[in-house]
Amino acid sequence: AKDAGRGTWRAYGREMDQRLHERLQREEALRVAIAEQQLEVYYQPRYLSQGMQIIGAEALVRWNHPERGLLLPEQFIPLAEETGLIIPLGRWVLHQACSQATRWPGDTVVSVNLSPLQLHDDRLLDEIAQALGENDLPGKRLELEVTESALLRETQGTLDQLKRIKALGVHLAVDDFGTGYSSLTSLRHYPFDVIKIDNSFVAGIGQSMEDHSIVRALIELGRGLQMRVTAEGVETEEQLRLLKDDGCTEVQGFHMSHPMPADELQRLLSQLPAR
Ligand code: C2E
Ligand code: CA
Ligand code: CA
Ligand code: CA
Repeated sequence: AKDAGRGTWRAYGREMDQRLHERLQREEALRVAIAEQQLEVYYQPRYLSQGMQIIGAEALVRWNHPERGLLLPEQFIPLAEETGLIIPLGRWVLHQACSQATRWPGDTVVSVNLSPLQLHDDRLLDEIAQALGENDLPGKRLELEVTESALLRETQGTLDQLKRIKALGVHLAVDDFGTGYSSLTSLRHYPFDVIKIDNSFVAGIGQSMEDHSIVRALIELGRGLQMRVTAEGVETEEQLRLLKDDGCTEVQGFHMSHPMPADELQRLLSQLPAR
């Protein structure tokens, strides 16, 4: 019985080794991907609900994996966050996005997602200033999206960081709003310009009274706090119509446009009448 027990332990140990090995391999592959430009930024247009002009686009990273094909963020962002690789990855996305945005018309804004680790990194402010400076992009053409859950940690430090970023003229959006646990009143202490209503609530509009009520309440909250409100994940004409009726100012979703490579967005933007 003793031997069998040890055998089990040895097998378990081997399995642990195997898992650790795979993880290290995945980490190394991601490190290579960042260094060797296997990552690509896609852009999803954001529209003004009245008139449906494109007012900006959100940068969404993809990984052109040499063997596994095009990977979505959910397949590698968690690993990047666990390993700290989100710092170089995020820096790369920020620079790409600012560089792309200089080719867009007039005041089209580029939105970039910040992970919690980036938000709490001391080098972030300098990197934002550098990305803007190198591309000669005015701060107001960059918007940074921070998830509601990233705000829970280290309140005063986070608030100071956000205020310094804001001082660069950059816009701030609170992402996936409604899914975290921050109190509604805490929102007014933060210098946000935009509330992004999470997909999950938008999906319920026209189906669930509860979801629709939450969406209406969030739009009302934005109005009260003098913030713009973007609904993300708009998939149907009906959702779009109801959001407009409810006074939602900006929309984003598959119904209008899927995320697309940079050159495709540029073509789309150049076909539009000048504003
Ligand atoms: P997110 O910031 O909430 O981005 C919106 C996600 O919703 C995107 O998924 C987008 O493709 C998807 N989406 C857009 N319209 C619709 C729609 O009508 N219906 C549905 N069902 N989905 C829609 P994606 O590109 O897979 O990105 C997933 C998440 O990965 C993002 O969620 C964001 O949290 C994260 N992410 C993406 N790029 C970056 C990045 O550069 N840095 C960091 N830190 N996170 C990123
Ligand atoms: Ca986002
Ligand atoms: Ca979101
Ligand atoms: Ca979401």
